[in-house]
Amino acid sequence: MYPQRPAAFEYKRPASVDEAIGLLAANGDTRALAGGHSLLPLMKLRLAEPSVIVDIGRLPGLDVIEVDGDGVRIGALATHASVAASELVRERCPVLATTAEGIGDRQVRNRGTIGGSLAHADPGADYPTVVSALGATVVVRGPNGELEIAADSFFTGVFTTELAQGELVTAVRVPATQKAAYVKHRHPASGYAVVGVACVVRPDEARIVVGGVTGSPVLIALSPGDEPTIEAVVDELPAALSGALSDTYASGGYRVHLAQVLAKRAIRAALAT
Ligand code: FAD
Repeated sequence: MYPQRPAAFEYKRPASVDEAIGLLAANGDTRALAGGHSLLPLMKLRLAEPSVIVDIGRLPGLDVIEVDGDGVRIGALATHASVAASELVRERCPVLATTAEGIGDRQVRNRGTIGGSLAHADPGADYPTVVSALGATVVVRGPNGELEIAADSFFTGVFTTELAQGELVTAVRVPATQKAAYVKHRHPASGYAVVGVACVVRPDEARIVVGGVTGSPVLIALSPGDEPTIEAVVDELPAALSGALSDTYASGGYRVHLAQVLAKRAIRAALAT
């Protein structure tokens, strides 16, 4: 029988980002809490037992979605529902809005945040795959100030990222992108991507990113000199996806097969937009 309640923890609700960073940096056993839709289940199963929780969920200004050059800057606390509903996101980067719309169920979309999803780095999460394909930038603040990390190098493995203790994701900067598509094989219980493939086509490059197969999203970037057929790209995938994850729902081999099928669909859909 799994425990259904978290272990005891201390709860802090800072009033500013700097105060939150100070609390997180002070103790290696401290975790930020945003929407709680990944952290709380882990705590109930006692797979995470932080001694201090820093509730960043109501920090002012971190949920803003705003113009950023010709792209869009999305605050870390923007919920999946608000990304899906944003006119700005729909206009400048429609694939991100449709991705948000396809996450989990209504309750998850109303509570879960884009910053939480990126920081948590679940191999089955949708945003890591899509923001990596978009060439987005993750904005991070910590005790040493602010830095920006390219999304395609932010994710380093299963549930691991470039974030250091005390650092918070504060926003993600997404370039305007029209020719793009994301397709996933949804887990029937949760909606998580068993496998998800994003494809972004720009005049100077095409980026295909596969999520859900290995620990972190895998990027295949093609420049104008490369003009392979869709079949040739898909044939290359098994080699790029070595070390595929297996679980009770899907074997590694099945995940690679799904990636090949979904990659064809994603490339065709992106070219057709
Ligand atoms: P939290 O649970 O609050 O935090 C998660 C982790 O990130 C914690 O370690 C926390 O310390 C850290 N963290 C949070 N915010 C920050 C920040 N700004 N900076 C640094 N660290 C931070 N996801 C999908 O992508 N696709 C799905 O289809 C999907 N289906 C789901 C179905 C169910 C039933 C559930 C419960 C979840 C599902 N999710 C899915 C996950 C959901 O999107 C989560 O909301 C998301 O992964 C985490 O966001 P959160 O705001 O809830 O983070």
